[in-house]
Amino acid sequence: MFVVVLPIISAGIPISCHRESTVVQDGVHDYGPLMDKMPVVRVLLVNDKREAAVAIHGSYQITGSLTNIIEQGQELRRCALSVSDGGINVGDKHYNHSEIRIATQQDGGIELNNVRYRGEIRILQQFNNKFSVIGETDVEDFVSGVVGSEMPSSWEEDALRAQAVAVRTYVMYKKKVRRDEVYNLDLQELAYRGVAGETARVSSMVQDTKGVVMVHNWNIFPAYFHSTCGGHTEDVHHVFGKDSIPPLSGVECNYCNNSKHSQWSKDISKSVIEKKTAGCQCLHFQHTCRKGC
Ligand SMILES: [Zn+2]
Repeated sequence: MFVVVLPIISAGIPISCHRESTVVQDGVHDYGPLMDKMPVVRVLLVNDKREAAVAIHGSYQITGSLTNIIEQGQELRRCALSVSDGGINVGDKHYNHSEIRIATQQDGGIELNNVRYRGEIRILQQFNNKFSVIGETDVEDFVSGVVGSEMPSSWEEDALRAQAVAVRTYVMYKKKVRRDEVYNLDLQELAYRGVAGETARVSSMVQDTKGVVMVHNWNIFPAYFHSTCGGHTEDVHHVFGKDSIPPLSGVECNYCNNSKHSQWSKDISKSVIEKKTAGCQCLHFQHTCRKGC
């Protein structure tokens, strides 16, 4: 069984940097056999924009909101994506739909703002001629793209495997808690450069851990990861106001001492602090203030 080690990677809020051993009912779980097919994650790639650049490599088809095919082609050169007159424009074509989906037979053949993605994309109209784009990708492909974007692919194999488990756990958790939402997660939450993040080495390490996620009491949890904790990770309750569980309760860490981000200082004037905490006497962040400030 895989040793559970929350990794030392960039992005995210410090929670747990390392755990020395697993405990009863705490460990890893393979979701693969429980599902008929590979889970798909819905990721918000573009939001609230009036224009984006799109290109399609290989044969493709565009479907409308009723999943009817409204366009088919062999290749789409880079063109503008926009919204006007109640419809969606792809280059010089106007589709009178509130939502369209683009799929291509070439894996990784959809290019959006110069980033190539696997899977399909959905373009949804918003107000004021704006739109959002949601990518739909197999979880394992998505994990490969994130691992390669979050850390150098030259790092130790076990570090890459551990990162893959952490990312997969986080993604599957978000799939669970946001299953009824339009998208499961967005690019504010983790680094993702699509196909560009994947390398043969990263994909191999992701494949090694395929389907493995961390659980606590057989419940999946948000496996936050980060670059540097500064010596001790924080309890999730103090950061996000969520219920604390052992894997997210904070641990001492000596692994990131050499990071240039391990120790730092910042001068903040008294007036700025007073402004930030205006009305609150306890200096807690608003969402964790127990006095209701
Ligand atoms: Zn650390």
